[in-house]
Amino acid sequence: MGKKVIIAGAGLGGLTTALRLTTKGYQVEILEKYHQAGGRLNELKLDGFTFDVGPSFFSMSYEFDELFKSCNMENPLTYQQLDPLYVVNFAGSDKRYHIYKDLKKLAEEFKHIEPDFEAKARKYLDNAKAIFHDTEYKVVKRNFNGITDYLLSLASVPWKHAPRMFRSMWAELDKYFVSHEVKVIFSLVAFFLGDTPFATPAVYKLLNYTELEHDGYWNVKGGMYRITESLVNELERRGVKIHYNTEIVEVVADRSGVKAFVDQHGKEWTGDIFVSNSDAASFRGKILKRKKYSEERLDKMHWTLAPFTIYLGVRGKIDGLQHHNYFLGTNFEEYADQIFKLSVNPQKPYYYVNVSSKSNPECAPEGCENLFILCPVPDLRYKKSWKDEQELADTIIEDLGNRVGYDIKSNIIAQKIMSPEAWRDHFNLYRGSGLGLAHGLNQIGAFRPANKDEEYSNLYYVGASTIPGTGLPIVVISSKLVTERITHEH
Ligand SMILES: Cc1cc2nc3c(=O)[nH]c(=O)nc-3n(C[C@H](O)[C@H](O)[C@H](O)COP(=O)(O)OP(=O)(O)OC[C@H]3O[C@@H](n4cnc5c(N)ncnc54)[C@H](O)[C@@H]3O)c2cc1C
Repeated sequence: MGKKVIIAGAGLGGLTTALRLTTKGYQVEILEKYHQAGGRLNELKLDGFTFDVGPSFFSMSYEFDELFKSCNMENPLTYQQLDPLYVVNFAGSDKRYHIYKDLKKLAEEFKHIEPDFEAKARKYLDNAKAIFHDTEYKVVKRNFNGITDYLLSLASVPWKHAPRMFRSMWAELDKYFVSHEVKVIFSLVAFFLGDTPFATPAVYKLLNYTELEHDGYWNVKGGMYRITESLVNELERRGVKIHYNTEIVEVVADRSGVKAFVDQHGKEWTGDIFVSNSDAASFRGKILKRKKYSEERLDKMHWTLAPFTIYLGVRGKIDGLQHHNYFLGTNFEEYADQIFKLSVNPQKPYYYVNVSSKSNPECAPEGCENLFILCPVPDLRYKKSWKDEQELADTIIEDLGNRVGYDIKSNIIAQKIMSPEAWRDHFNLYRGSGLGLAHGLNQIGAFRPANKDEEYSNLYYVGASTIPGTGLPIVVISSKLVTERITHEH
């Protein structure tokens, strides 16, 4: 019989690692704090409405194809390509910018504000493409054995990209485009990394290439939770047990390694190999009590923005909304500068709205829509209490109603709010940070918490805060990297 692996966490990282390891003959058991699988990739059912709790689309769909293929499975998911990718609305204007993958169509959207858009975008994206392909295997899809190994790998990336490690994404956009709107729209990808374009290195323009040219954005027929569901079904078929409402709070270990994960009731879960899908930095601090990851040190690290999410079941069809929509203000620089450290509710919030019932009608009762609203807010280091959560929800709902010309407020038939406190409490997200550790130069590659423990030879990590980083396809890559390590070492 294969070696026994205990995984703490049934998020995408934990589930995909379990799938890969069972394919290689390991026995796997999963312990999950929440009452159902998926972590941030979760589902909420409310009064006849179904909502994706977190992620609503993904790039690099081929990473899911690779996962299923390498695990000897038919891909159970039906992808739906987003076209337009999304729609952007700026406060005070009726103009909606439809962001198409087709550059000619996109140029039409910007023809009054950005002369020669197509040629400029072509040049910008060609450079982004080169960064993507020059770093994909050398930096992103690789395990590193220490800092020297990482630096050597970085040194093999063509030097022409080096200035973009130190220039901000915003400064880079300034070199190509004159229109403020175009720069703001192209810089939205920085927020997918949980940071602002003023603090995000320009190399991450590669995300513009992934969205606009490479593989685009996709969601899944029937809702994003079908990803979690199909992984859980396959794992059950392979005999993997997932124990819910089971939080790991301690480990039993000696010099030879970890002996057991211990849950909140004191039960010991023994195995040969252990994997944490809990946040790789805070697990080392909170559970392993490592000084390098003490609360004080964790608080000094750079964390991504926290999610403030609202789930609304609304009576009626809202023509002013598409599947994916951004509602932005007119003070982008000022907003981005203050939003990280604000200790009160933002007065004129920027937010994203997803209406999955537009393409998955089964997610809302007939004649209704399911609205998922995401407003990035400061983490719990800055705004410590969310007793006033309804106030921010009301501000957003009123603003949205005005901007789409529909009385949303009077037509709400189901509502739930998840503040950063809820995100922290449900999934152990450190200070409620939505995407985990940020991706500045000092927190990526060998500078990110490693996927192999520093002390225990049989303890590993998978997920958004270890390598390579955050986002669904990147977490799928993370499971591939940790599986490579485990199969090589055990
Ligand atoms: C609001 C929001 C929107 C997002 N939108 C997108 C998007 O559109 N596209 C995209 O690609 N990405 C998106 N992301 C990012 C994406 O959700 C994450 O990068 C990814 O889901 C992280 O997966 P994970 O397995 O690393 O962590 P998680 O999903 O957090 O899973 C970790 C699991 O471990 C469990 N756990 C934690 N501690 C313990 C413990 N001690 N014991 C037992 N169990 C434990 C948790 O409960 C959780 O189930 C979004 C994130 C958020 C918050």
